[in-house]
Amino acid sequence: MSQDIFVVIEHLRGQVADISYVMLAAARALAQGTGGKVVAILLGHNAQELAGNFSANRVLYADHPALAEFTSEAYQVTLASLIREQSPRAVLFGHTTIGADIAGGLSVKLSLPLVSSCRTLNSNGKFVCQICGGKIMAEGDLPSPTALVTMAPGGYKLEEGQSDQAPAIETTAIPSLDDLRVTLKHYIEPEAGDVDIAKEPLLISVGRGIQTKDNIEIARELATALGGQVSASRPIVDQGWLPASCLVGKSGKHVRPKVYLALGISGAPEHVEGMNESDTIIAINTDPNAPIFNVAKYGTTADIFDLVPALTEKVKQAAGVS
Ligand SMILES: Cc1cc2nc3c(=O)[nH]c(=O)nc-3n(C[C@H](O)[C@H](O)[C@H](O)COP(=O)(O)OP(=O)(O)OC[C@H]3O[C@@H](n4cnc5c(N)ncnc54)[C@H](O)[C@@H]3O)c2cc1C
Repeated sequence: MSQDIFVVIEHLRGQVADISYVMLAAARALAQGTGGKVVAILLGHNAQELAGNFSANRVLYADHPALAEFTSEAYQVTLASLIREQSPRAVLFGHTTIGADIAGGLSVKLSLPLVSSCRTLNSNGKFVCQICGGKIMAEGDLPSPTALVTMAPGGYKLEEGQSDQAPAIETTAIPSLDDLRVTLKHYIEPEAGDVDIAKEPLLISVGRGIQTKDNIEIARELATALGGQVSASRPIVDQGWLPASCLVGKSGKHVRPKVYLALGISGAPEHVEGMNESDTIIAINTDPNAPIFNVAKYGTTADIFDLVPALTEKVKQAAGVS
C-alpha cells in the first residue's frame, strides 16, 4: 500500500472543473501527514494539456477514445484497475454529480469505504464533512486501507490547488474498454436565458423563504435599484417560478459575482457549491443556524419581507430615484 493521495480530475468539454483544484489543495494537506505524493489522475483523450497548472507531484494520464467524454462505466473500469494496482492511501473525487457517480460505484466494486461531502482533510488523517444538509460538521479519521472521499467546495481556495510549474505527466496503462455498455450519444444543452447569471457582478438570489411567485417581485425591485440580476435556489426553479437559466448550484450554474445576496436561502451544500466562490456573500435568513451563514461574510436574521423593501427604498433614495 502506498501513502500517495490520488485526485480524480473532473473535467467536461475541455474545461477542468473548479472542484479539481479544491481536491488538489486538500490532497496536499493530507499528503503532508502521510508523507506520500499528490497524484492527479487525468482520464481523457488528447487531453494532457489540461494538466498544465495542477499543483501535483505527478499526473497519471490515461488516454483512450472511450475516455474522451465522461461516462461512469469507462471511468470506473479504468480507476478500479489503477487503485487495485497502486493501493493509494486515499482517492479524492468531487462531491458532484460526476464524482458521486464514480465514487459510489467504485466503493461497491472494490469494497472500499467512502467518506462523502468532505470540506477539509488534515495532515493528521482527519476529515471534516458536512452532513444533514450542511447543518452539522462531522469529524473523523479516514478509514483504511484506501479511503474513497468526495470533496465538497468551500474548504480551500482554487489557487491553493494551482501551480505555475507544470507537473510531470506519465501515461498509464489502461484495461480493456472494448465491452462498455454505456456510451455518450450527445449532450443536451440547457436552454439559454436572456441573462447569463454566471457573468453578472451582482446577484439577488431568492430561495424558498420568498414563499410565493408574486413575492419574487420584491427581489426584482431591489435588483433593478442596485443594477443586479435575480437568480434562485432549486425549489424556486422546480416550482416554475423562475426559469432554469436562473438556477444556482450543483444542477444549475456556478456563479462568482462580486456580491451574492441570498434572500431566504438555507445554504444547502448543493446550492453553496454553485456560489461559494462569490467575492462577498450576504445572507438574509430568519434562522440563525442556517448553514448559509457559514459562507456569508455579512448576514442578518431579519425577515426578508421587512428588510428587502426598506433596502430598496433606501437605495432609490440614495440614487435620487424616489
Ligand atoms: C442531486 C441534487 C441536486 C441539487 N441541486 C441543487 C442546485 O443546483 N441548487 C439548489 O439551490 N439546490 C439544489 N438541490 C436542493 C438542495 O438540497 C436544497 O433543497 C435547496 O437548495 C434548498 O433551497 P432553499 O434554501 O431555497 O430552501 P430551504 O432549504 O427550504 O430554505 C429556506 C430558508 O428560508 C428561510 N426563511 C424562511 N422565511 C424567511 C423570511 N421571511 N425571511 C428570511 N428568511 C426566511 C428559512 O429559515 C430557510 O433557511 C439539489 C438537491 C439534490 C439532491
